[in-house]
Amino acid sequence: MGRILATLEKRLAPLSSADAQLDRLHQVALPSSFAESLATAGLFPLRATGVDILQINVGRRCNQTCRHCHVDAGPDRKEVMPREVLEACLTFLGTHRVRTFDITGGAPELHPDFREIVSRGAGSGAHVMHRCNLTAILLPNYSDIPALLARHRVEVVASLPYFQSSETDAQRGEGVFEESIEALRLLNGLGYGRGEGLQLNLVANPVGTFLPGNQEALEARWKKEMLRRYGITFDRLYTITNMPISRFLEFLDERGKVEEYLTMLANAFNPSAAAGVMCRGTLSVSYDGALHDCDFNQMLEMPLAGLAPRTIFEALEPEGLAALSSREIAIAPHCYGCTAGAGSSCGGAVA
Ligand code: SF4
Ligand code: SF4
Repeated sequence: MGRILATLEKRLAPLSSADAQLDRLHQVALPSSFAESLATAGLFPLRATGVDILQINVGRRCNQTCRHCHVDAGPDRKEVMPREVLEACLTFLGTHRVRTFDITGGAPELHPDFREIVSRGAGSGAHVMHRCNLTAILLPNYSDIPALLARHRVEVVASLPYFQSSETDAQRGEGVFEESIEALRLLNGLGYGRGEGLQLNLVANPVGTFLPGNQEALEARWKKEMLRRYGITFDRLYTITNMPISRFLEFLDERGKVEEYLTMLANAFNPSAAAGVMCRGTLSVSYDGALHDCDFNQMLEMPLAGLAPRTIFEALEPEGLAALSSREIAIAPHCYGCTAGAGSSCGGAVA
């Protein structure tokens, strides 16, 4: 395959719209709705328990076009978080002393103010996480980024589907694996993933239509293989389930596998995983300032439910945090992707 593909949006693909994706998901006749499954676990309606993580999606531009991308990110996307939204996010973070500031995209490095976002986020006292695709930090003009991350003790969460090139390149594009290894060596060289406090965590997702294996066992295997093959060390391996939205939904649809995949997720519903879904402690902000329960709901353009603030500007008003902290979570069939098996979140398995 080539390195760069056109995004759904660029191709005007039928599933490029959020409504079309939700319609497709709702067409599947599941054994029970997500709401019914939550009810059997005593979790309906699903509610937030606080705002421990402020996750900002700074834009959809990316130097890659991975086949499973839930953002439909790529070089042809233009969305970038403007200054006023960024300022409101940083104000919210500092005012409410939110514990974790999670920066995602696209490739967040491609935001023109990425360096400032990192340094001001860290300056607020929050633990800063950067979701890194590894290849972006090798681009010309970005060579200062790894040292900047290290200086601010930013946790790097790096996606890598597998510890071999063929599986990784099949999902992420030709040559991506080799560059990812180069970037990981660079990060190791700065002290990342060496047990010296600079956290380097890898995120692996199944290369196919199955659930991730046991996270603990996979982490042990990956640590052994990454060290033996490439001399690379890291802290944790997070396993995540491929979410049936955006490009992965198109991948499933083209193969006639949407029903099968979603049913597999629904049949693997785990009440303990449901109790720990990441949306309960996360607030997700879109590049345009709209608020969502998670990055997946953001891509499906599902706003917050009920009377909770709808934008980061409204969130700054008195009572904004209180309303967000106990809000009802907006759900749809894709939520089964977070509750299947050991569960799945931006921080890996949850049960
Ligand atoms: S999965 Fe990540 S690296 Fe790949 S295209 Fe999407 S945002 Fe970019
Ligand atoms: S998809 Fe989002 S809203 Fe649904 S369970 Fe997962 S984290 Fe929560």
